[in-house]
Amino acid sequence: MKDHAPRFRISRLSSFALLSAAVILLLGTVTARYLVHQIAERELQHATATAEWLARLGVQPRVDGADGRLRVSRGEAHALDRLLRDRSVVGPDTARIDVLDARGAVRYSTDPTLVDTPATLTMSRPALRSVLSGHENATVIHASADTRSPDAKLVKRSGDILRVAVPITSHGRAPVGVLVVNSRYAPMAATISHETTQLYLALLLGLSLVYAILLLNQSSAKLRLQAVSLRRFAQDTEYLAHHDGLTGLPNRVLLRDRLHQAIMLHKRKDESFAIFHLDLDRFKEVNDTLGHFSGDQLLREVADRLQRTLRESDTVARLGGDEFAVLLPAVDSDGAVVAAEKVLKALQRPFIIQSLTLQIDASIGIAVYPTHGRDFDELMQHADSVMYLAKRKRSGYESDRDTDVDQSQTNRLGLAAELRVAIDRGELRLHYQPRASLTTGEVVGVEALVRWQHPERGAISPDEFIPLAEQGGLIRTLTLWVIDEALSQCRRWLDMGVDLPVSVNLSTRDLIDQQLPEVIGEALERTGVSADKLEVEITESVIMADPVRAREVLTRLRETGVHASIDDFGTGYSSLGYLRRLPVDQLKIDRSFVFNMTGDDQDEIIVQSTIDLAHNLGLTVVAEGAETLETLHRLRELGCDSVQGFILSRPLPPEQVVVWLQQHRRAAAA
Ligand code: C2E
Ligand code: CA
Ligand code: CA
Repeated sequence: MKDHAPRFRISRLSSFALLSAAVILLLGTVTARYLVHQIAERELQHATATAEWLARLGVQPRVDGADGRLRVSRGEAHALDRLLRDRSVVGPDTARIDVLDARGAVRYSTDPTLVDTPATLTMSRPALRSVLSGHENATVIHASADTRSPDAKLVKRSGDILRVAVPITSHGRAPVGVLVVNSRYAPMAATISHETTQLYLALLLGLSLVYAILLLNQSSAKLRLQAVSLRRFAQDTEYLAHHDGLTGLPNRVLLRDRLHQAIMLHKRKDESFAIFHLDLDRFKEVNDTLGHFSGDQLLREVADRLQRTLRESDTVARLGGDEFAVLLPAVDSDGAVVAAEKVLKALQRPFIIQSLTLQIDASIGIAVYPTHGRDFDELMQHADSVMYLAKRKRSGYESDRDTDVDQSQTNRLGLAAELRVAIDRGELRLHYQPRASLTTGEVVGVEALVRWQHPERGAISPDEFIPLAEQGGLIRTLTLWVIDEALSQCRRWLDMGVDLPVSVNLSTRDLIDQQLPEVIGEALERTGVSADKLEVEITESVIMADPVRAREVLTRLRETGVHASIDDFGTGYSSLGYLRRLPVDQLKIDRSFVFNMTGDDQDEIIVQSTIDLAHNLGLTVVAEGAETLETLHRLRELGCDSVQGFILSRPLPPEQVVVWLQQHRRAAAA
């Protein structure tokens, strides 16, 4: 390709040169011929005009043609001699002048030997007739002419002869005779040839100039074109060198560059940043069973989802195959973990590839600068090795090297088995986190959050064991227990005169469970709590896992009077436009946007636009994860309806809720 292009250009240029040369040559030839003809014509006209002038002013008054016949008297002949032999009158090149009568006889000649000879001696009959009918005639008699011809003497003396014959009229009547002026042709020929040469030179110069300008123009246009295409080529090459062809994401080269920049920047600011090495699980299966086309499509969609999930300031790169990397500027290890969870959550939502629903998991290795490395290679190496750890442990993400891998693997398996009995043994408890209205300050409900108090390990976070329950098929049991427990607690509060609606969290599995609405109905009946005291929280990813089924179940729940909220809004993928068509009443903005919104413009913009859009769609908005008073005030300014977060209260064991409530009311009243 590379060496074809210039050759192509050269041949294009030379064919243009040839073509224009041919056109210019043709043009030159035609012009030259025309101009040369004009030069000769001009000389002849000049000679003819001289002859006419002589005939009218010199000859006509001295000949007698009153009766239509031309005669020259002896006296007139003398006068003519004086006039026509005077070179200052007839010109230096005049060789001989004859006056013929209408029949062609020579009536006068500057060569006296010719007088009274027949005209045919000096002129052919047809030429004579033509002149007598009023036309001038000019011919060149060449020196090579027949020696017997009457012109032989003349030609011998003067060389080539130009013979101009013009009519002689008398008293305004038809021509009575002919004046023949014979001149030496050589001087005229010399003038013509000189002027022709000059003309050729001028033409050659002019046309060469035109040709040169044409070529220059053409090649400068080519050059411009070349420059443009070179620039484009350079841009393309630059882009290709820095991006992945399949997904359009930055590649390892660009990532290295950005990471280097991040190091420079954070060295100055003394901040940390993180890098993920993300690898899809079971991608090979997709490629092998569905083919490369589907595999490629999946990779593109994963790339797209990663970009949408992360911030614009983050760099999502493809390292090759099913491996991606993410550079997160300005985060610490906690922030990196939040982002990793967000990414994993986003990827859990099924992909639709060729009308097949694919569930893809991913493993993420996290490296934090400067803890895990001080340059690109060190950081990537760490991220890579902990990514494999995450894969082995099926833990989703890992940050620190774990030497005791097998131990943690068995831990998890053991934990899943223990969870089974934990429910029966009563090791699970519910804590309740209050949510307050931002307009009245009143507590409008509590969210039930499950806790596992393990006899040996102590408190285990729901983030850790809920996924285990989901994987181990325990979630249905767990959810039913939570609903039952939350409603029972709600009943107890009601009995104490405390009206506290409760929210419970549902998992993907729960929403696929067609019997959920009935089971909830039974629980409501059993506890005697009205349906509007119960709210279910569903995350976007739960809905999107099976939107049709989710909608069906939600609709049926709604019919019984139970409220529904979209949880963790903003971390998933669904558009508000889609959510609007779901039977939900409320949106909970994910805490990752809220907790730092006063310190991050982008987060604040997301919170604000979510509030505005949700209100336009007729939904109320809860902000979760508010940790500071500043955030609380800002949320109120932005028109958020209610708030939940550590600034109000951490999740509390049920026995502390009423006490907290009383304190809160007292504080609000004060
Ligand atoms: P979630 O539904 O988003 O619950 C809110 C989580 O945010 C709770 O964590 C809560 O302690 C935490 N949080 C509340 N305010 C703040 C704050 O101001 N700052 C920060 N940093 N965090 C705050 P928790 O209790 O650890 O629960 C974690 C997740 O586990 C929940 O997230 C929920 O998805 C799941 N989960 C908890 N209980 C249940 C349950 O009964 N069933 C199901 N399916 N999932 C549950
Ligand atoms: Ca929730
Ligand atoms: Ca939430």
